[in-house]
Amino acid sequence: MTWIPVNEPALLPEDFLALKDSFDTGWISSAGKYVDQFESDWATYCGQDHGIAVSNGTAALQVAVEAVGIGAGDEVIMPSYTIISCASSVVRAGAKPVLVDCDPKTFGMVPDQVAQKITPRTKAIMVVHMFGHPVDMDPIAELASKHGLVIIEDAAEVHGAKYLSGRDGPDPVWKTCGGMGHIATFSFFANKLITTGEGGMVVTSNKAYAEKARSLRNLCFRPDRRFLHTEHGHQFRMTNMQAAIGVNQVKRIETIVDRKRAIADQYSTLLSDIEDIQLPMESDWAKNVFWVYSILLGEGHKMDAVEFAARLKEKNIETRPFFLGMHEQPVFHDMGLFIGENYPVTERIARKGLYVPSGLAITDEQIEIVSEAVRETLA
Ligand SMILES: *Cc1c(COP(=O)(O)O)cnc(C)c1O
Repeated sequence: MTWIPVNEPALLPEDFLALKDSFDTGWISSAGKYVDQFESDWATYCGQDHGIAVSNGTAALQVAVEAVGIGAGDEVIMPSYTIISCASSVVRAGAKPVLVDCDPKTFGMVPDQVAQKITPRTKAIMVVHMFGHPVDMDPIAELASKHGLVIIEDAAEVHGAKYLSGRDGPDPVWKTCGGMGHIATFSFFANKLITTGEGGMVVTSNKAYAEKARSLRNLCFRPDRRFLHTEHGHQFRMTNMQAAIGVNQVKRIETIVDRKRAIADQYSTLLSDIEDIQLPMESDWAKNVFWVYSILLGEGHKMDAVEFAARLKEKNIETRPFFLGMHEQPVFHDMGLFIGENYPVTERIARKGLYVPSGLAITDEQIEIVSEAVRETLA
């Protein structure tokens, strides 16, 4: 049986033609028309006024945190269940990440717990939409406006996902993920719904944040005197070649989302009768883009994710374990952070969850093979 990778991207010949154009015209650095076009197309799609393309999603978070002015003495509330890039960006800005647990079904941060962690030092809430499913944003927006907090939205896993805002009111409206934060970030890594190989973007409708982000991305060169520096920046530029690859994918985002939803649908149909596992869901106020297809073993299941993954690997199927909570990271304990903290849902799912091959290049036949292997393994 051939190896089935956990995530294979699906690039098209027209993506290559744009790349070739940037190459042939010699515009291979971060100067060039594709960067501008990618920024403007993607920001517009998200419902934001400005896009600032950067070298990756981690850099996008770093720029966003600094662009909104987070620094020493500030606290930023974020989920424990996420990638290290989130906490890392706050720590590097000299501020303190403050954690909350995640919802057992959507794996997104729990708004009630956010409320409990607000202090006079809280400056921002970093929302991280997980695995394609949006976080319940209305209560978070309400908290933010009540306490004057900035919402930073990490939308790296939810290109094209939608959230139904105002669902209990007279005028519910679908909003696009990445368009709900005061500032939002994306990754375009090879396993994301839109990919430029490596890449990221900051989007915002706040002009001051956008200008600051643009400056931070490019070493804070001053427009009036280039090599005089009054602020401390980064070199996080995206190349025109990368942006060229992204431009065409923005045009087909709805097709990409439809395919992701079809992949999830097929898996769910094939796996739904297996006992004591939890499959991805979709709240009625959400449009999930199923970035990855996750399988969470029941709490009492004799197997954990490590063994489950090893058994699937024997069948030539690659998987990825879930994130390990930020409060369980030795690197942060060494900094005196999160010591003795517990987030039971994060801890449980970190040990019992993995995701199976679900990249855009996967075939229906491969989904059948993986599903059969999952069934045999769990029988
Ligand atoms: C992928 C990802 C990132 C980081 O993106 P990179 O481009 O790999 O740096 C940040 N946040 C979340 C939630 C992600 O899934």
